[in-house]
Amino acid sequence: MQFSERILRVKPSATLAITALANSLKAKGIDVIGFGTGEPDFDTPTFIKMAAIQAIESGKTKYTPAGGIPELKKAICEKFRRDNALDYEPSQVTVNCGGKHSFYNLIQVLIDAGDEVIIPAPYWVSYPPIVLLAGGTPVIVPTAEENGFKLTPAQLEKAITPRTRAVILNSPSNPTGSTYSRAELESLAGILEKRDILIISDDIYESILYDGRTFINIANLSESLKKKTIVLNGVSKAYSMTGWRIGYMAADKEIIAKAEILQSQSTSNPTSISQWASVEALLGDQGVIGDMVEAFDRRRAVIVRMLNEAPGVHCMSPEGAFYAFPNISGVAKLPGWAKLREKYTDPNLSSAVTAFLLEVAQVAVVPGVEFGDDNFIRLSFATSDENIVRGCERIKEALGKLA
Ligand SMILES: *Cc1c(COP(=O)(O)O)cnc(C)c1O
Repeated sequence: MQFSERILRVKPSATLAITALANSLKAKGIDVIGFGTGEPDFDTPTFIKMAAIQAIESGKTKYTPAGGIPELKKAICEKFRRDNALDYEPSQVTVNCGGKHSFYNLIQVLIDAGDEVIIPAPYWVSYPPIVLLAGGTPVIVPTAEENGFKLTPAQLEKAITPRTRAVILNSPSNPTGSTYSRAELESLAGILEKRDILIISDDIYESILYDGRTFINIANLSESLKKKTIVLNGVSKAYSMTGWRIGYMAADKEIIAKAEILQSQSTSNPTSISQWASVEALLGDQGVIGDMVEAFDRRRAVIVRMLNEAPGVHCMSPEGAFYAFPNISGVAKLPGWAKLREKYTDPNLSSAVTAFLLEVAQVAVVPGVEFGDDNFIRLSFATSDENIVRGCERIKEALGKLA
């Protein structure tokens, strides 16, 4: 069968694949502990579910404007003013079928063949394939663990070419949890201010921050930066609404208008019921976020401590989001590893370690190579305290046998 060049450029989402594999082992009765899924384990808060039920009962079950209902656009503008001190008109925001779809639409609207998008690594797994699907070129810029996985001004400057259209910032980051401070954003702004490059700011984890950190967007630094910035966000992570599929973006109204044309010719509107629930999520009691963050923070302490006790592993404490991203390069140096290499032959260390952990420890993690750094694995701690303790015990035990 002949397929488009476009689809042959990409492979399935690795995180979804790991989750599917772990689930199929579980279905066979194997007690796999999953650290793969990137979604909160909490139920969607009741008041949000009630708004959806209300929407169904009152017949809000028909097409809506392709870019979202006015009530939700207004709620998004209010959220930006309240949480981010950013002023947008409803014509500057649009609603999509999840945050991933917001990014997809944006890239389709901005990127032509050969256009470059700077993506600091480690990166969210979906950024490079979505750029590739548009015919664009992902320009991967590796960041250093010693530097908190943050893009430096020198690295940014070096990556820029005449074909650079945009740079992606994802703070707090999936997978590293690293979070840009105002000073760090200012140093990047120094380079971006004077160039015709768009900034794509993926703020999906803005509310999941630890140790008293506060969130700042590069658009907060100046009016001219705000004009160049497209802010991506959504309700999936903050309100535990991953299945509802609502994301949104804010940008210059010309970009938004084009994104709405694309959406009108593809998905049409995001689910009407989910949109009404999202109005309630954004305007209702925000205390639900704090409750989740408190639980994540407690789990963060446990998972980081326990991973650091495992031979060959060292793990920084993430500043935000809900992922531990331990360095596993030391596993390759454990005395028992060389022999295992005959069995776990994947040339990528992180994939081999992932296969070993799944088979021997019955723990599902995601190999760092999928995020652009093979010396790491990613574990989501959006899972129960009990799973974290049991899973880490198993990892310690499995790696302990190699020490
Ligand atoms: C989860 C996530 C999103 C959005 O996910 P959706 O489920 O599509 O809303 C966007 N960016 C990053 C980095 C994420 O981890």
